[in-house]
Amino acid sequence: GTWGSDKLNASRQENPFMMTWVPGAARHSVPNMTHGEGVYLFDDKGNKYLDWTSQAVCANLGHDVPKAVVDAAAQQMATLPFVYGGIGMTEVRTRLNQLMSEILPGDLRAAVYPSSGAEANEAGIMMARRFTGRQKIITWYRSYHGATANAGAATGDFRRWYGSDEVPGFVKAFNPFPLFFNHGGPNATEEESVQAALNMLEEQILNEGPDNIASIIMESVVGAGGCLVMPPGYMQGIRALCDQYGILMHVDEVMVGFGRTGKLFGFQNYEGVMPDIVSSAKGISSAAIPMSMTACNAEIMDFFEDKPLGWGSTYQAHPVAMAVAYENIKYLIENNIVGRSANMAPLFEACMQKLANDHPSIKQYRAIGMFGCFDIQDTNGANPKLQHEAAHQAFHKYKQAYIENGLVGLHRYPHIHCAPPLSITEEELIDGFQRLDRALDVLDDALGF
Ligand code: PLP
Repeated sequence: GTWGSDKLNASRQENPFMMTWVPGAARHSVPNMTHGEGVYLFDDKGNKYLDWTSQAVCANLGHDVPKAVVDAAAQQMATLPFVYGGIGMTEVRTRLNQLMSEILPGDLRAAVYPSSGAEANEAGIMMARRFTGRQKIITWYRSYHGATANAGAATGDFRRWYGSDEVPGFVKAFNPFPLFFNHGGPNATEEESVQAALNMLEEQILNEGPDNIASIIMESVVGAGGCLVMPPGYMQGIRALCDQYGILMHVDEVMVGFGRTGKLFGFQNYEGVMPDIVSSAKGISSAAIPMSMTACNAEIMDFFEDKPLGWGSTYQAHPVAMAVAYENIKYLIENNIVGRSANMAPLFEACMQKLANDHPSIKQYRAIGMFGCFDIQDTNGANPKLQHEAAHQAFHKYKQAYIENGLVGLHRYPHIHCAPPLSITEEELIDGFQRLDRALDVLDDALGF
């Protein structure tokens, strides 16, 4: 091992590469990971980190790929590594389609298997536009849908501002539970607030012209935007509005699908809600390979029997990716990973509640299944782009403490996401929250509490 840190730093200097959502120079400060084991990652300096966000909320089985998945990938590569979807059918696609039809509720069926969440949304947007003959898509401000042009334009958070803001055809709506105001007035009940939010959305639909709106795209539980769980009745209300105006309901399950919320799909937390289009990625392969899926109902599937979808990608339905997804999903089922996520939820939430109570720097939290988010106490925290100098310096110190306490994960000020691998043990989970507890002590101090 001469690949030590001096050599590594020299290499990062001489062979620069770009980071994605942070400046390129950040490459100098990210650890050089060498291997993974269970919920842990190890770097070249011998540090061991507990993966507190399953990377980008995708490595849901931690960092050991089940043997059956590895074997299936190797076997697929050895027998039939690649067939382009437009040229040939494969046995693995038949098998995966069959499995999907068993696990997808209602008449939802897997239509295409792209390689990323953004592409799964692009395919879903194309389906909706061509099926309805309408162009506009309604999405939420507090949302993230990916970084291709349309997925970026569908995105509500600041990442849209970099270059997708001028893409036509997207209309932004407010999420039903703004963090800092109440739709229904200061004394409204939750039910009244939900109805007010739905009324506001209907007003928006009417003013955009219902006949112009192809779909409403929403995350069933908003992920990067802060683990926002829909209030009771809201998703049912969206379904009803969609039915009333012939708008398709497209649910983005990219982050929370495949067990994160304690249900296989996040929308299954809302009784009786059946989307028309579902996009999914991340957990479909537990990050072992780039893979995603767009599913749709039977009517949409039938519609495209005699028309092209009008969307494609070289690696759509890649046999190796499908072999990995098939074995991964089988593993999730056989090891009851979704049930495990549901069973861990009370402990998970109790730990979140304790930290929220103990740390004045935390304003509030939300949790569902094995997914949670704290909001940092900060008057400007509602706006991720408002650079609140003091808070940012404090956040920097917190991030430092986070890594010094042996945690690694995504950071999205003013949120603190908690999304460890679904395979985590109770002891490891408690240990993770204790590490976070120590990092939050530093945040409390840094914010002057
Ligand atoms: N949709 C949601 C809800 C996501 O959380 C993400 C990624 O974080 C995406 C879409 C985009 O997925 P990808 O990065 O694989 O394109």
